[in-house]
Amino acid sequence: MRRMQAALRRFPPEHGIRNMVKGRRLYEGKAKILYEGPEPGTLVVHFKDDATAFNGEKFEVIEGKGVLNNRISEFIFRRLGEMGIPTHFIKRLNMREQLVKRVEIIPLEVIVRNIAAGSISKRLGIEEGKRLPRAIVEFCYKNDDLGDPLVAEEHINAFGWASPQEVDDMVHLALRTNDILSGLFAGIGIRLVDFKLEFGREFLPDGMVRTVLADEISPDSCRLWDMKTEEKLDKDRFRRDLGGLVDAYTEVARRLGIINGDGRNGGNPGPKLVKG
Ligand code: UDP
Repeated sequence: MRRMQAALRRFPPEHGIRNMVKGRRLYEGKAKILYEGPEPGTLVVHFKDDATAFNGEKFEVIEGKGVLNNRISEFIFRRLGEMGIPTHFIKRLNMREQLVKRVEIIPLEVIVRNIAAGSISKRLGIEEGKRLPRAIVEFCYKNDDLGDPLVAEEHINAFGWASPQEVDDMVHLALRTNDILSGLFAGIGIRLVDFKLEFGREFLPDGMVRTVLADEISPDSCRLWDMKTEEKLDKDRFRRDLGGLVDAYTEVARRLGIINGDGRNGGNPGPKLVKG
């Protein structure tokens, strides 16, 4: 009995059970590591504290970023799932890891924009902060060597990166996601300026293939501006050397109701409405 207690002290159940599931390391990206999951058809995603920008030219380790992104992305994927958006998300395993379905990633970044910022402002000479006439969906080809260039549906079809049906699915799901998330963030006083999505192919047991939302949705992949102060609560704090990235991500998590004001676990009571 005493021996068991000592063993439990050394390996508290949470530690043992929650870490047992991880298999072979499959891939290490800029902000995440993928491992084989406990069952076939699953993966474990580990969120790192690494921050990169400008195609890896700028790099920094920002302590706490991975934990925040894991929690925020979990919250958003759950919400989207509840609203009928198919996603790869299964469950969060611990502070840095989540279990997801293994899908075949479509090599495109799908960007949805509500307000001009970043590359569209540069490309088309639109002042940052200007509301776009309607939500715009863009596709970029995922290729670091080329700097993820903007592509048209013509390229996607011609090079077979995705089928016309998959392009339709991605546009439809991206716009639905935009509606849901714009409302979610507006309710907590945050403007969803733009964001990036990635999709995958889920191979179902009946031989069918469906397009599902994959990767992450976090302040690393969205532009989030405070509605009152216009303060940036996203990765532009790192890209533009503004500092305070962890404070900004913590503020997003706090307003979503994921953590308390002091950074402790808030038990997901849901977003707190901010009166305008
Ligand atoms: N984005 C991303 N990963 C990328 C490129 C863009 O998550 O590799 C996100 C970015 O955070 C922003 C949106 O997609 O929310 C639009 O980014 P943009 O094309 O303006 O490029 P950037 O200015 O970030 O280079």
